[in-house]
Amino acid sequence: MILVMSPEATKEQIESAASQIESWGHRASVTIGEEQTIIGIIGDKRDLAGRALTAISGVEKVLEVSAPYKLASRHFHPEDTVIDVCGVKVGGGHRCVMAGPCSVDTYDNLIEIAKSVKAAGATMLRGGAFKPRTSPYTFQGGGEEALKMLAEAKKETGMPIVTELMSEKDIDVICKYADVIQLGARNMQNFSLLKEVGKLGKPVLLKNGIASTVAEHLMSAEYLMSEGLKDVMLCLRGVRSYETALRNTLELAIVSYLKTHTHLPIIVDPSHAAGKREYVMPLAYAGWAVGADGLVIEVHPNPKCALSDGEQALLPTDFDYLMKKINAVEPWSQADWAKQAKKV
Ligand code: PEP
Ligand code: MN
Repeated sequence: MILVMSPEATKEQIESAASQIESWGHRASVTIGEEQTIIGIIGDKRDLAGRALTAISGVEKVLEVSAPYKLASRHFHPEDTVIDVCGVKVGGGHRCVMAGPCSVDTYDNLIEIAKSVKAAGATMLRGGAFKPRTSPYTFQGGGEEALKMLAEAKKETGMPIVTELMSEKDIDVICKYADVIQLGARNMQNFSLLKEVGKLGKPVLLKNGIASTVAEHLMSAEYLMSEGLKDVMLCLRGVRSYETALRNTLELAIVSYLKTHTHLPIIVDPSHAAGKREYVMPLAYAGWAVGADGLVIEVHPNPKCALSDGEQALLPTDFDYLMKKINAVEPWSQADWAKQAKKV
């Protein structure tokens, strides 16, 4: 449930309404908007039966929220969340492009990739040091050595680092180097990991699960946020479906759906969705045009020698071509359309 405070509500009334909710054993999430303040109530609404919520001083109305996710919901937080990653803003009209290798391999490759993607307009550097591989006999990631290379590349280029955390045991080492913690498809529903990461306070790029629903993805964001984290980006990387021509199936209409239902930034990953270099670019272009707040794209100068996902890695020249194309596109804004839309 949500308490919508009247535009004239004073700071004291807002604080007292929030403590009233808390005194009833519920959490109160206060969002101070430009025009109105709302207080989201988190807890079992049955416990509030008989409480006169509308009688609380300063409350204009009480709204029911039927979605099981609360903190991630647009109802609880009507304005877009804007995440600041070392000065790179994401969300609320700020768009980012994260690019880099699937796995960090050599320093020379990494620095070549980092410099070229930065020159083309990327704003963050991605690179895996702990890799979730289908086979235990394939490259599992360079571990801390790879993280050190990422730190060097950050020093050289100024780009913040996005890197995957796979296990609770690697939290300390990942936190030493990562500016954004990536939680991968295979861990989207690792609830104990989500709870721990939610306590760290670092921005998270949360990918959708291999065959997850949108509601499940949002509930995983809710796990992170229920531990206090605000800076969560939802990343769409496709799901396994009846369609097997490409690596995964990415439903881009979900970008607009999510923009309506959540305030969190939405990032499109065309690399893991398409799985093949030539189809990554049109999907990236479409994801940008449909209004995603960002893209995450794999790039490698020598894809044949990449230690993972070489087939889907763009060459630096392809990435540059793509960036020029997307920079010429005016992305769709669901919010701009909604401002002038007639009711049906
Ligand atoms: C990756 O980003 O390299 C990766 C393993 O992604 P996903 O979790 O989407 O498969
Ligand atoms: Mn990959």
